[in-house]
Amino acid sequence: MRPLDMIEAKKQGQEHDCAQIAALVAGLMTGEVPDYQMAAWLMAVRWRGLSRREAADLTDVLVKSGRTIDLLRAGLEPPFVDKHSTGGVGDKLSLVVVPLLMAAGATVVKLSGAGLGHTGGTVDKLASIPGFRVDLGIDEIVQIARATGGCLASQTADLVPADGLIYALRDATATVDSLPLIAASIMSKKLAAGAGTIVLDVKVGKGALLPRVEQGKELAALLVELAAGAGRQAVALLTAMDEPLGRTVGNAIEVNEALEVLRGGGPEDVRRLSLALAAEAMAAAVLVPSSGRALEVARRLLSSGQALERLLRLVKAQGGEPATLERGEGLRLAAQSAEVAAEADGDLVAVDARLVGQAAVALGAGRSRKGQTLDSGAGIRLLVQSGQRIERGQPLAVVYATGEARLAAGIELLRKAFVLSDDPSPAGQAAKPSGTVLQVIRAPQGPPKRDEVRP
Ligand code: URA
Repeated sequence: MRPLDMIEAKKQGQEHDCAQIAALVAGLMTGEVPDYQMAAWLMAVRWRGLSRREAADLTDVLVKSGRTIDLLRAGLEPPFVDKHSTGGVGDKLSLVVVPLLMAAGATVVKLSGAGLGHTGGTVDKLASIPGFRVDLGIDEIVQIARATGGCLASQTADLVPADGLIYALRDATATVDSLPLIAASIMSKKLAAGAGTIVLDVKVGKGALLPRVEQGKELAALLVELAAGAGRQAVALLTAMDEPLGRTVGNAIEVNEALEVLRGGGPEDVRRLSLALAAEAMAAAVLVPSSGRALEVARRLLSSGQALERLLRLVKAQGGEPATLERGEGLRLAAQSAEVAAEADGDLVAVDARLVGQAAVALGAGRSRKGQTLDSGAGIRLLVQSGQRIERGQPLAVVYATGEARLAAGIELLRKAFVLSDDPSPAGQAAKPSGTVLQVIRAPQGPPKRDEVRP
C-alpha cells in the first residue's frame, strides 16, 4: 500500500496489517516516505487511534528498526530493571530513581527521550551536564553498564532509530498526545534495551500529555499489556500532574534539583514519588526480601548517599564532568534572569503545569521546531506553591533565558500559569498535589484484548 493510501485508510479509521506498518516505517528510515507523509499519518492516528493489535505491531516494528541489547548475554548482572515516565513538567525523577535502583543492586540500562511538547525529557536534562554523552553505541552502553551498573542513553542509529525519527516529528507536528503512539514509543525503547522489569510513571492532569484520568488508565493498561506480551513484567503508577513536580522546570536547573534530592534535601513531592517508583520496581524485581520493606530500603539508599554516589559514577563514565555536580553549586544557568511578580493580592489556587511547560519551551528549554538546539541553562524556578496567600508585588518565580525576546515570551506565558483568587473554590484547585499516586496498575489477567485503543 502506498503511504498516501495508508494515510487515507487511517483517516477513514481502517486497520493496517503488520506488513503495512513495517513498510511505512521502513520507508521513513530510507527516506522513501517523506516527513510530510509520515506526519500526516501520525495526525490520522492521533484522531483515529490504533487497535491494540496495531499498537503491538507498531511497537514490534520500532524495536526491529534497530538492534536490541541482550543484557544477560553481554555478561551483565540481573535483575534488569527500567523506569519510564509518560512525560510531565518538572519531571526529573529518572535522575533520582535510576541511581536508586542501581544502588539497590539492579542493572539499569535506560533509553530515554528528549522533551516532547510542553513536557521535558531526560535526554535533554542529561545533555545539560558538560561533556555527558547520551548518543552511545551498544558496545559502549554495555561497557558503561558493566563498570557502573547502569547507563542512560538516547535512541541512536542502532537502537530504536525509527522511534527517534517519529518522536522528533511528533514533537513538531502536535501529534504527541496520541495514546497508542506514546505506548509504542515508550515500550519500544524499554524492550530494545532489554529490561525484564519496568516501572512506568503514567501522568494525568493538566501538565500530562494525556490529561484525563480515564486516558491515563487506558495508557497504563496498554503499556503493561505490551510489556506482558513481550514477556516482560511491568507495573504502572498513575500519578497526578496538574502542577509542576518540584520547584524547577528546564534542563540544567532540574539536574540541580535532582542532585538536591539525592543529597537528602529538595522538594518533598519529587522525593516522595521517586521513592515510591523505586520501591515498586525493587519489589517487582525481588530486590528486597519483602515488598513491604521496599520503601524503607529505598529511603535508606537515598539518605545514605549511595544513590548520589551511583549517579556521579554514571556521569563520569558517560563523559560528564562530575566536579561541578560534586561541588554542590550545580550547573550554570542562563545569564539573563528576571523575576515574575504577582499583579494582585489573592490565594494561589493553582499553578498550571501546561502553561509552565509552555513557558519553559518559550524560554528555550524545549523545542518548537524539529532539531532545534536547546538552551540548557534556560528554565524556571518557582518561588510559591498553590495554597499560599500571595500579596501584590510578591515574586512568584525567577526565569532564566538567553536574550530579551525569549525572556519576554516566557514571562508572558508564565504569568497566566498562576491562578489567584479571593474566593478559592474547590473547582479551581488542583485535585491532588503533583506526584500523588492515584492508582497502581499491574499486568492484566488472560490473553490480550483486541478492542480499539482510543487516540
Ligand atoms: N516518552 C516517550 O518515550 N515517548 C512518548 O511518546 C512519551 C513519553
